[in-house]
Amino acid sequence: MKHILMLAWLVVLTACGADQTAPLQGSMAGDTTGSQKTFQWKMVTSWPKNYPGLGTGPEYFARQVEAMSAGRLKIHVYGANELVPALEVFDAVSNGTAEMGHSGAYFWKGKVPASVFFTSVPFGLTAQEMNAWLYHGGGMALWEEAYAPFGLIPLAGGNSGVQMAGWFNREINSLNDIKGLKMRIPGLGGEVFQRAGGEAVTIAGGELFTAMQTGVIDATEWVGPWNDKAFGLHRVAKYYYYPGWHEPGSTMELTVNKKAFDSLPADLQAIVRNAARAANQNMLDEYTAHNNAALKELVEKDGVQLRKLPDDVLARLRELSEQVLEEQAAADPMSGKVYASFKAFRANVKTWHAVSEQAYIEAR
Ligand code: CA
Repeated sequence: MKHILMLAWLVVLTACGADQTAPLQGSMAGDTTGSQKTFQWKMVTSWPKNYPGLGTGPEYFARQVEAMSAGRLKIHVYGANELVPALEVFDAVSNGTAEMGHSGAYFWKGKVPASVFFTSVPFGLTAQEMNAWLYHGGGMALWEEAYAPFGLIPLAGGNSGVQMAGWFNREINSLNDIKGLKMRIPGLGGEVFQRAGGEAVTIAGGELFTAMQTGVIDATEWVGPWNDKAFGLHRVAKYYYYPGWHEPGSTMELTVNKKAFDSLPADLQAIVRNAARAANQNMLDEYTAHNNAALKELVEKDGVQLRKLPDDVLARLRELSEQVLEEQAAADPMSGKVYASFKAFRANVKTWHAVSEQAYIEAR
């Protein structure tokens, strides 16, 4: 009986396959309200096409959507500058130049000050904690509220995990060694670094190798072993410091033009949302797996000196980070609202993780 049913099913499948011909396509094209309408979307990104992790993440998302929708929603992913410049992704999706974007929310701090909390902030949440706050702690609703005035729907679309503190051309033994140090470290982390006595600069990822090599900067952070090795940063600095206090679990964002999203039937909307969740987790898994291997190679083959930032340096950076976050919270009402939620969640999850993740990792 089972075999007969399976055979019958195969016949149906084959018949469907054989029916991908003009008459059926014609009826699909004519059906503009039904579930068979097909959509071709564009997605602009802030990363080089297929860059490890950041660029392969949105490609993974597009593949999942196409497979889950049986080709009814196809998304073409553009690398940075192919359709719009890296830092115009937000505007391009907001004004409908593209239906979707993949980027980092903290790039839009000038337009949406609260956006920094949806990527990562100094001494903020780990990837696991970010996802818990976003999906089950009220974070996602606040993110949606912050982007609503721009006609955008945000979705979490990847996470780098805890980053590295960065590459330094000299050892950091105390706070004094930070004084006057010129480091590429963007965002709120840069603001904190500046207050600790350093000089923070912002340079695009692709220019970091040359900036270090020519001595324009003394230090730089980027992401972690997998991405940093790809840029060859181990060839221009000897000391590789951890932990990445300034970006403890950076969430990447997928943005969707609200009008475009509303034009999709409910099942395709669900596919977009669920493919985003898959892509969000997949990127973290990819970083975790590749960082392992890359770190091993950097230390064992490339002779990189791995160092932990001294406790007093981390303590000072933590203190300054709290100041900077409090000021950020006071910048505008939405930032205040988001920070209140974020801060309460961080305090609670810290208590829980002290006896779970942290205690276990220390005991292992
Ligand atoms: Ca970084």
